Amino acid sequence: MKILLAASEAVPFCKTGGLADVVGALSQKLGAAGHDVCLFLPRYRVVDSAALPGGLARPLMVPLGGGAVPVSLRYLQYKSASVYFVDCPPLFDRDGLYVGADGKDHPDNDLRFALFCRAVLEGAKAVGFKPDVVHLHDWQTGLVPAYLRRHYKNDPFFASTATVFTIHNIAYQGNFPLASAAKAGFEPSDLTPDRLEYYGQCSFLKAGLVFADQLTTVSPSYAVEIQASGERGFGMEGLLQRRSVELTGILNGIDLEVWNPEKDPCLPARYDAASAADGKAACRKALLAECGLDGTKELPLVAVVSRLDRQKGLDLAIEALSSRLDSCRLAVLGSGDASLRDAFRELARRRPDAVVFREGFDDPFAHRLYAASDLFLMPSRFEPCGLGQMIAMRYGSVPVAAKTGGLADTVAEPGNGFLCRPGDAGDLGLALDRAFAARAGGGWGAVRGAAMASDFSWERSVQRYVGLYGLARAGRA
Ligand code: ADP
Repeated sequence: MKILLAASEAVPFCKTGGLADVVGALSQKLGAAGHDVCLFLPRYRVVDSAALPGGLARPLMVPLGGGAVPVSLRYLQYKSASVYFVDCPPLFDRDGLYVGADGKDHPDNDLRFALFCRAVLEGAKAVGFKPDVVHLHDWQTGLVPAYLRRHYKNDPFFASTATVFTIHNIAYQGNFPLASAAKAGFEPSDLTPDRLEYYGQCSFLKAGLVFADQLTTVSPSYAVEIQASGERGFGMEGLLQRRSVELTGILNGIDLEVWNPEKDPCLPARYDAASAADGKAACRKALLAECGLDGTKELPLVAVVSRLDRQKGLDLAIEALSSRLDSCRLAVLGSGDASLRDAFRELARRRPDAVVFREGFDDPFAHRLYAASDLFLMPSRFEPCGLGQMIAMRYGSVPVAAKTGGLADTVAEPGNGFLCRPGDAGDLGLALDRAFAARAGGGWGAVRGAAMASDFSWERSVQRYVGLYGLARAGRA
């Protein structure tokens, strides 16, 4: 099958969150399974242009809002996928993928991602890649299915192209003033509530949800939740209910090579399930020393590796943990929201023996935290899939998580973790108490073993995506 993936981020080129892990892994796994895979990404400043050998001799003139924007395509064969970078320096050669140094969204994000969407389709034509399926990810690529069905509907090149759109997080919608849709080249007739209009704005996410042949999201539970209420569906629940038959939840996997405690070069000691007790003890000792935490008592080490965002429920974690710092040690790695950052700083200042907070994005430290910790805290208010809890389990760090979305689909109590109600600090405290008691008891090896034995490989999910591509194509035939 010829599969074109388009996204706003993918490892190892550019990453702000789990989306990059998923798109990077999925494109490689599909390629390795024998499909002809082509991945389109914007050429941001972080993508080292010197490392991109191939380029099209002639720039493409990409139509946009009555004019045309010159864009070049930079090509790289990366393992089993062909990667095309949409190079348009005025729009993408700047710091920050979506947000500037001031912490605010780039003011021209509408134009940037409209141009990217159009360039994906023009680019596919220019390089002669006639896709059987175009698989889009999140709002930044939402206009692709809309362009295909409105602007290219009579173009024989795409006559048999089916589309699949994946929601990684419905809270991010790409909503802009209606004028943005005109700038992107849509007619007033497209700005209706059954197409791009969304409460007086134009929504790039909605464009994807309306026009794609099949929709997916990243866990079965989240697929149900986003249809069930406005609180979880963020206003898209009615549309998703109408498209329920075409909406499938497919759980993300993790890259078992990158996240492998047996071979991880970031760790002071490596281990597998059989040697986890000793290996993790060595990692724990090294981390406590590195962070200046008191390791004289055999207390469980609780880790957080997360974006600092209200979604993640970390304010609830602070509330629940404040009175429990004589029962555990806490190590937090995260960046984002300033009030959460200040709250963690304050906790660490108050209890330097028990709490360490490291602000920033630090991949090697994240690896060391997953390995050193006994418990991994993820009390999200909502969680489309979540990778952190899966990575933690692979490293034998047992999750204490909220029963929502992908967390509900991957963590079971009793079994491989501890669960609480989302948004409930009191219940989180009780889950922590159960986890601390279990850590101190004789059965801990079995809980940790169950976590490490959980299967989060990509293979099953990739097969499900391929099945869905087939369904989308059948619907177009
Ligand atoms: P989300 O995509 O909502 O941020 P996920 O759990 O799906 O959350 O994915 C988060 C990914 O980003 C994981 O691979 C996690 O290890 C990594 N991560 C999050 N915060 C940091 C950080 N501050 N430093 C290093 N890695 C981080």
